[in-house]
Amino acid sequence: MNSAEVLEKYKSVLFKAKIVSVIAIIFAIPKLFIGFTSYTTFLGISSNVALLLFTLGFVPYIVFFYSYWKCPSCNKFPGSGWARKECQHCHVMLKE
Ligand SMILES: [Zn+2]
Repeated sequence: MNSAEVLEKYKSVLFKAKIVSVIAIIFAIPKLFIGFTSYTTFLGISSNVALLLFTLGFVPYIVFFYSYWKCPSCNKFPGSGWARKECQHCHVMLKE
C-alpha cells in the first residue's frame, strides 16, 4: 500500500469515527439533559429510556473504536486524537 492509499483509507476511518461520535452524542442528549437539569423527562423521554438510549448510542462507538479504528498500514490502533498525523506504531503518515 502506498502512502496515498494510506491517507485515503485513514480519511474514511476518521469520517466513520465522526459519524459514530455524532450518533453517540445525539443518543446521549436526553440523558445529559435530564442529568443536568431538574427535569425528569426530555421531549417525553423518561430517564430510564434516556439511559437506554445513552447506552445504545455508545454501542456503535465502542464497536467502531475496537474494530475499525486502525492504521491502514499496520492494522494497529494508531493512537488517540482526531488530529493525529502519524501512526504511533509504524509511523506511517496518516494525514498530510
Ligand atoms: Zn501503523
